[in-house]
Amino acid sequence: MRVRFWGTRGSIAVPGPGTNHFGGNTSCVELVTDAGGLLIFDCGTGARQLAGALMARGGAVDANILLGHTHWDHIQGFPFFTPAFVKGNTVAIHGPEGSRGSLHEVLAGQMEFTYFPVDLTQLPAAITYHDLTEGLHAIGGARVAAQYLNHPAMTVGYRVEVDGASIVYLVDHEPFSDELWRAGSAPGRIESMLHEGDRRHARFMADADLVIHDAQYTPEEYPAKKTWGHSTYDYVVQVAAAAGVKRVALTHHDPGHDDAFVAEIERRARALAERQGTGLDVFCAYEGCEILLEGGLPRGASTTSPSHQASVAQRQFHVLVVDDQPDMVTLIVRALESDHYTVSTATSGEGALRSIGERMPDIVVLDYKMNGMDGLEVMKSLRAGDRTRLLPVLMLTAMSDEPSTRAGFDAGVTDYVTKPFSIPQLTARVRACLARAQLQ
Ligand SMILES: [Zn+2]
Ligand SMILES: [Zn+2]
Repeated sequence: MRVRFWGTRGSIAVPGPGTNHFGGNTSCVELVTDAGGLLIFDCGTGARQLAGALMARGGAVDANILLGHTHWDHIQGFPFFTPAFVKGNTVAIHGPEGSRGSLHEVLAGQMEFTYFPVDLTQLPAAITYHDLTEGLHAIGGARVAAQYLNHPAMTVGYRVEVDGASIVYLVDHEPFSDELWRAGSAPGRIESMLHEGDRRHARFMADADLVIHDAQYTPEEYPAKKTWGHSTYDYVVQVAAAAGVKRVALTHHDPGHDDAFVAEIERRARALAERQGTGLDVFCAYEGCEILLEGGLPRGASTTSPSHQASVAQRQFHVLVVDDQPDMVTLIVRALESDHYTVSTATSGEGALRSIGERMPDIVVLDYKMNGMDGLEVMKSLRAGDRTRLLPVLMLTAMSDEPSTRAGFDAGVTDYVTKPFSIPQLTARVRACLARAQLQ
């Protein structure tokens, strides 16, 4: 397969002399399989030039667009994707099932007459929409796995296996916890990672030939940008090295970073990769960068386990929110209700168990530190009960330290979210827990 970067910038396009080398267009990557299948990761402003190249190649275009999510920098190129303006072409758009509307509605929104002169329904190409959650899919002749990322919006990463090679696209994503490694365990191995979210993220990219990963911030910048949903090169290099990845392209470069700055990130990332000692090759993606991948997998073989897709959009879910701080309860309830969940509340551990006994929720959002019975004790009781053994629990806590995170997972929580968190981040994590529970 052949891979080409058409947009490498995050957040907003930044053309100009300072970004000539790494490029100013937002996220867009083209993948062409040996059989001619066309997959496009994201449709940022880079998609305009890709569209021109596709038209220049001649013949009908059969494109599969894989959107990680629908933030502007990932869809703004779509209204300029000219193959969609030609009758006879087909465009299949895949993306995460949104909580505030279907993929079709979200894309139509940015093409309303207020914002754009051509309505989405006027495009002559045959356009289809495919709302995805986690699972396996066959797209463009390739085997495609989708898995949720940690971003303040429903966002999926993609693992594509075709032509005996594997490529993984993970943009936009933020580490699940401050500490990557469990204290006292040997770093450099997936099992030594502290947060189950990071372990799952590492397993998803395991042994890939190429990983394309968000690395918007430096480690120095990150603390001020926490919860914004982006990674640092040192997180990416450590996770990829532990996962046995062969090559990593860092992308979604910050709009404030000029070419010299990104080159320095590349230098630091390469030095760190060398110290990992796994032979990992890392570089910063630039516009026009083209890579030919010939993998070692026998054709037709695959390293991802089979799965299927479970939709969470069709069902009314019941969420129990447990927190002894009334302000926090009000905030969480408001967020979940605007995402169309049925929400009930409890203000103590004892109250939570009583409520669960009366009416089983689909998921519990549980505060860690509460007066009286705390979150860990509630967990212990839930995991000991037959009916509640597998009940998804998202633990909410102000304690981001390593021992607390470890205690949470040891107690059997499904996910662990630290305060301060943003509302879209919380609702995305609740939805990911629910989608996974549907697959079990
Ligand atoms: Zn982005
Ligand atoms: Zn985003």
